[in-house]
Amino acid sequence: MTQKKPKMKRIAVLTSGGDAPGMNAAIRAVVRSGIAAGTEVCGIWSGYEGLLEGNVLQLSASSVANTIQRGGTWLKTSRSDEFRTKAGRKKAAHVLDHAGIEGLVVIGGDGSYRGALALHEEHGVRVVGVPGTIDNDIRGTDDTIGFDTAINTAVEMIDRIRDTASSHNRIFIVEVMGRASGNIALAVGLSCGAEFVMIPEVKTKIQDIHVGLQRSIARGKLSSILVAAEGSALGGANEIAAKLKVLGHDAKVAILGHTQRGGSPTAHDRILASRMGQLAVESLLSGKPEGMIASVKGEMKHLSLLAVNSKTTTAQAAKRMEDLVRILAI
Ligand code: ADP
Repeated sequence: MTQKKPKMKRIAVLTSGGDAPGMNAAIRAVVRSGIAAGTEVCGIWSGYEGLLEGNVLQLSASSVANTIQRGGTWLKTSRSDEFRTKAGRKKAAHVLDHAGIEGLVVIGGDGSYRGALALHEEHGVRVVGVPGTIDNDIRGTDDTIGFDTAINTAVEMIDRIRDTASSHNRIFIVEVMGRASGNIALAVGLSCGAEFVMIPEVKTKIQDIHVGLQRSIARGKLSSILVAAEGSALGGANEIAAKLKVLGHDAKVAILGHTQRGGSPTAHDRILASRMGQLAVESLLSGKPEGMIASVKGEMKHLSLLAVNSKTTTAQAAKRMEDLVRILAI
C-alpha cells in the first residue's frame, strides 16, 4: 500500500498573545507530527509581529529537542497592532504565500483566534488554533494549555501563605491572575480551601465578606485566606484590603502576579499540549480550512473557529463558575 501524500507541502507554527506553560510542548508536537507526516514545518518568531516581519525559519525534529519541559515559548510571543488592521493581515498573507506556507497553527488565546479567523476569512489562509492560555477562558474547550500549571503554582504558594496565616492569626488576601475571568481564582480557591473567592463574574459584597469573617472570628477561627482574581468585581487585593480595613479587618496582601505564568509545565499540560498539537497538524493535513482544537470531556476535537469567535463566550464560563461557587459554599 502506498503512503497517502500530505495535501500540504509546508506548514508553520507560531505562538501569540500571553505566554502559557506548555506552549513549547505544543510547538514540539506540531513540528514532530508534521515532519512525521511528510510535511515541512516552519517556526514563525514572535507571533503575528514576527510573521509581518517575515521572521520564518524551517525547523527540524531536533529544533524542538529538550523543549517539552520548558515554560514560556521558545518561539517567543508578541502582541501586534499592525496585524489588527486589514492592511497588516494582507501583508501577513503575502509573507505566508511567499514562503510557500499552506497552513498555519496558531497557539494562543481568544484574541489570537480572532486574528487567525480574520486571516482565513480575508485571504483564505488555512488556520487552526491551539488553545494556549493560563485563563482557561476559551469557549468550546474544557481545558487550555497552561491552566493546570498556573493553578498548581498558585496553590503551592497559597499553601505556604496558609502556614504563616494560621501561625499569626492573620487574614490574607491573595490576588491571582484573571482580569476578566475567575477560572483561576475559583480553581485555586477550591484547591486551597479558601474562605472566600472573588471573581469578575460574580458581584460579591464587601459586607458579606465582613459578616463571614466576623462569624469565623466568633467561632474562634482567626486566620482566613481570601482569593481574589485581579479583576474581581470588588477590585484587586489592595482595594479589597482597604475596604476591609474600614470595616475593622487588618488583612495582609499577597499578589502572585507573573509567577503564575512561568515555570515548567505540569505533566497534564504537556500531555494536553502534545495531543492538541498533533491533532492540529492532522486537521490541517486532512484539508480542513479553519478550526480550533478543543478538549471536550477528555477527547480532543476539531471545532470551527467561527463558533469560538462568537461573542457569547460567557455561557460556558458562567456554568463553570456556578458549579464551583456551589462547591465552595459548602
Ligand atoms: P490572546 O491571544 O492571549 O488572547 P491578545 O488578545 O493580545 O492575546 O491577542 C494576540 C494578538 O492577536 C493581538 O496582538 C493581535 O495582533 C491579534 N488579534 C487580537 N484580536 C484581534 C482581532 N479582533 N482581529 C485581528 N487580530 C487580532
